[in-house]
Amino acid sequence: MSRHYDYLAIGAGSGGIASANRAAIRGAKAAVIEAKAVGGTCVNVGCVPKKVMWFGAHIAEAIKYSSAYGFQLEQKGFDWSTLVQNREAYIERIHGAYHRGFAGNGVDYIEGFARFVDANTVEVNGERITADHITIAVGGRPLIPQIPGAEYGMDSDGFFALTEQPKKAVVVGAGYIAVEIAGVLHALGTDAHLMVRGDRPLRYFDQDITTALLERMQQDGPTLHTNSVVARVEKDATTNLLTLHTEAGEIIDGIDCLIWAIGREPATDAINLEAAGVVTDEQGFIRTDKYQNTNVKGIYAVGDITGEAQLTPVAIKAGRLLAERLFNKDLPDAHMDYSLIPTIVFSHPPIGTVGLTEAEAREQYGDAVKVYRSQFAAMYNAVTPHRALSTFKLVCVGADEKVVGLHGLGEGMDEILQGFAVAIKMGATKADFDATVALHPTSAEEFVTMR
Ligand code: NDP
Repeated sequence: MSRHYDYLAIGAGSGGIASANRAAIRGAKAAVIEAKAVGGTCVNVGCVPKKVMWFGAHIAEAIKYSSAYGFQLEQKGFDWSTLVQNREAYIERIHGAYHRGFAGNGVDYIEGFARFVDANTVEVNGERITADHITIAVGGRPLIPQIPGAEYGMDSDGFFALTEQPKKAVVVGAGYIAVEIAGVLHALGTDAHLMVRGDRPLRYFDQDITTALLERMQQDGPTLHTNSVVARVEKDATTNLLTLHTEAGEIIDGIDCLIWAIGREPATDAINLEAAGVVTDEQGFIRTDKYQNTNVKGIYAVGDITGEAQLTPVAIKAGRLLAERLFNKDLPDAHMDYSLIPTIVFSHPPIGTVGLTEAEAREQYGDAVKVYRSQFAAMYNAVTPHRALSTFKLVCVGADEKVVGLHGLGEGMDEILQGFAVAIKMGATKADFDATVALHPTSAEEFVTMR
């Protein structure tokens, strides 16, 4: 048995789904192959369950300070498993929506693990499927360190599989995932520790913002361990509790949940890329040109597998534009613009960032850089004993003070960023920001009133 398609996506994550749907909408006979759950990392073990947990954490924080708003609440408890059940039920509904989308667009969904046979053929469940255009969108998976006892820890997939709340958790790593998971665990009541090997988490972000994050972590938690490198992990056979030893001799014991969040690796090793002749870089990422072309004609890559801006909306946009280029004769040059991609870290409070950090701008533009900052207590906190500060920042360049970077840590930053990202993408200057009437009272107005 064999089938032929115009367009085939390997991997039904954000990039594969978006590209296959768009290809079908443009008239192509399209299919998507997936070995695990439809939706990939984002929907199943990434953005979606993380954001649900973050909303839960948000409610916990609101309850904590609600007495200042006059509420006299008696909190009887927090049931982790209820939150997880409702989260998973929501994800099931998203799965259903994806399948309805495939049916509506005429995309074939094929369950199974695909391996290349040659540049136009893959084998799945013993069947050979050929296609004129094949997109590799197989994403990535979490890394685990090579140290004694590493197997006693779990990765972020393991975190989302937890059905009970950990009492004492250590999260090792310094990126988005580490910061987000440690923050959620802490806010929901776990004794949470974040262990970074450098002097701060998110060290590629703007320094003023990470300094503000350090201050908020000191004030609110989780417990941050800096310059801490884990050397080994031991497990007590009776209690099952873990003890973690760092290279500097620090010992943390009584841990019932250890989470590695030290980065992710591309999942290209098992799909038999050699048969198709697709090359990877030394880390296993499939590097593409700006049109998502790999080194093999008719084979493309989108999403985390490319090692480029590993974010769901990037994969979706790149996938849709690829499908437009291939199947829409009016858009033969369609391709993703990877500049000025806004991103949010769902820390507590969230961090939003788009464009250059101050350090990057100074490296590129030297003395032509001018920076504006604002630090303030958001009204939401200011009326409570929780006098926590937000930090917002603009990085501008040249005589016209073009805004090349916008960064913020503060309540609401996750919803504030998108509109400003539009303005910056359009080339807004500080004068354009200043000419915009402030929305009062909001935190966002700080961005248009900076002196
Ligand atoms: P990241 O690559 O963002 O961060 C991992 C960090 O862990 C490294 O930068 C490094 O920081 C640290 N690290 C690496 N090795 C070790 C080690 N052996 N021991 C201790 N620390 C180590 O990876 P994540 O897994 O957090 O996230 C992957 C990607 O997923 C992100 O880059 C992001 O693009 C995406 N993502 C986006 C989210 C969002 O948009 N909100 C949420 C989650 C993920 P250092 O060198 O400073 O120690």
